[in-house]
Amino acid sequence: MNTMRLFGTNGVRGVANVDLTPSMVLKLCQSIGTFFRSGRITVGRDGRLSGPMLSEATMAGLTSVGCEVVDVGVAPTPCVQYLTQLWKMDGGVVITASHNPPEYNGVKVLARDGVEIPRSDELAIEEIYRRQGWSSADWRHVGKIFSRRHGIDTYVHDIGRHFDRETVRKAGLTALVDPGNGVGALATPYVLRDLGCGVRTINSNVDGSFPSRPSEPTPQNLKYLTETVRALGVDFAVALDGDADRAIFLDEKGHVHWGDRTFALIEQFFLADNKGEKLVTPVSSSQVVEDVAKAYGGSVIWTRVGSVDVSRKMLETGARLGGEENGGIFYAPHIPVRDGTIAAAFIASILAKTQEKLSTLLGRLPSYYNAKEKVVCPNEKKEQVLREIQGRARGSRIETIDGVKVWHKDNSWILIRPSGTEPVFRLFAEAKTEDETSRLISTYKQIVEDLAK
Ligand code: MG
Repeated sequence: MNTMRLFGTNGVRGVANVDLTPSMVLKLCQSIGTFFRSGRITVGRDGRLSGPMLSEATMAGLTSVGCEVVDVGVAPTPCVQYLTQLWKMDGGVVITASHNPPEYNGVKVLARDGVEIPRSDELAIEEIYRRQGWSSADWRHVGKIFSRRHGIDTYVHDIGRHFDRETVRKAGLTALVDPGNGVGALATPYVLRDLGCGVRTINSNVDGSFPSRPSEPTPQNLKYLTETVRALGVDFAVALDGDADRAIFLDEKGHVHWGDRTFALIEQFFLADNKGEKLVTPVSSSQVVEDVAKAYGGSVIWTRVGSVDVSRKMLETGARLGGEENGGIFYAPHIPVRDGTIAAAFIASILAKTQEKLSTLLGRLPSYYNAKEKVVCPNEKKEQVLREIQGRARGSRIETIDGVKVWHKDNSWILIRPSGTEPVFRLFAEAKTEDETSRLISTYKQIVEDLAK
């Protein structure tokens, strides 16, 4: 872990007891508590083996500087986010490394609205950490810790309120839930059951060693799930990541669908009931998101890649629905953070409403071919290379909010983004044909290679 910058793209992450030692987390949480001026803080954690150790260090750090802690225990990240906002807390801390391998853990800091704190607040916490600028509370003012393990029941119940139980119950759907031994096991099956679905589960014992599959729900990590869907004959399957903020769906035939297509389906039904609404999605999402918006009278707001950017943009613009290609669905009337469980409830409710198969509904959406590539470029040259690409880009539309995205008349596009972690540029392209997709990639790969030399 870089000692200068603690916070990465998604909180403070590292290997437990190597980067994230109890003493490091203690000091970090003394800094976080100082930043929150000794307010009331929710603490929750995912199911990782180092979770109990690090959440004890978290609570010790927060209470030592006078914060009051409400401990919700093991819970999905979006559940801790929801409760932070619902209980009008001053902030929250989640001990999670999301989809990372089991040896990792992390500290995610939430603002009072439940959304991750902005970059400027991360810098303020790092500054307190660097100068050890906390002061221990007098013994009389050490913070109290309240345990509210039933918070997850409130979360499960409150998701159900956004859907029509009667319609779902009548449809008699059966869902297969695969939390991948993550904490989604504690929420997603219960929400679907509460809505009236029959629910089967697999890998649903919470186990921080992730014995069954890697905790990121990518198509290659879900091959066995295809077989399970076919064997059980369910209407759909949902696979979650380790902290259950992302959901990837399989149709009744066992085909894995990527997140921006299921987002587009949810978007279609949302827009049918809510004409003229804005949808928020990162520039890396498929064109299908904009196609659906146009067809149903909505409009798309593109953001930088990252869930916090989507959440903050939704708050800023009042948009009610957001989505990401990696399986993040954000629904502001619940809370504008990504939530794998609410995504599952949306899909169940759409299937119930339409009485159609998930493969049929997704098959009706416009489809595109996509391709990815990366080009090596030294970090110090990235900025200049990016400027030159912007200058050379020719298209019907250009978006420079994150890297450069160039659209062409036929709606094909290419996105060229500098990686935040590696000395490379990442290229993503999408077009109506495979040939056109490869042509876009090879043209721009050549340009980036020439500039990066
Ligand atoms: Mg996650």
